[in-house]
Amino acid sequence: MDCLFCKIVKGEIPSKVVYEDEAVFAFHDIAPQAPVHVLVIPKKHIAACADEINAGNSGEIAKVFEAVPKVARACGLTNGYRIINNCGEDACQTVPHIHFHILGGRRLPERMG
Ligand code: AMP
Ligand code: ZN
Repeated sequence: MDCLFCKIVKGEIPSKVVYEDEAVFAFHDIAPQAPVHVLVIPKKHIAACADEINAGNSGEIAKVFEAVPKVARACGLTNGYRIINNCGEDACQTVPHIHFHILGGRRLPERMG
């Protein structure tokens, strides 16, 4: 499958790995928008964003969120962080493998949109 994030999971495209377990992969965003900007994804390809979460794949999503505190700890995010899923065109989503941005390392803007 021609999916950028599947290739990153398989190691075919290099990434700066922050956390990995049997179901979840987390790596630094290539174009960080905060001092810490990490992407957390299920290893299994789930297209494409929150809009496609359903009873059949929510177990994989739960594993992603179980990993979030571990990712945050690994990144030294002791004073809070923001989790974002860009879903679809209006949110400017660019990669159609579901992913959650974790942003932190400084006081983030109060407004989110
Ligand atoms: P989104 O716009 O929500 O679909 O997020 C996709 C994110 O993937 C963007 O923040 C990109 O900077 C990031 N990205 C694209 N290519 C790579 C890559 N090779 N390694 C790490 N992050 C990437
Ligand atoms: Zn994929």
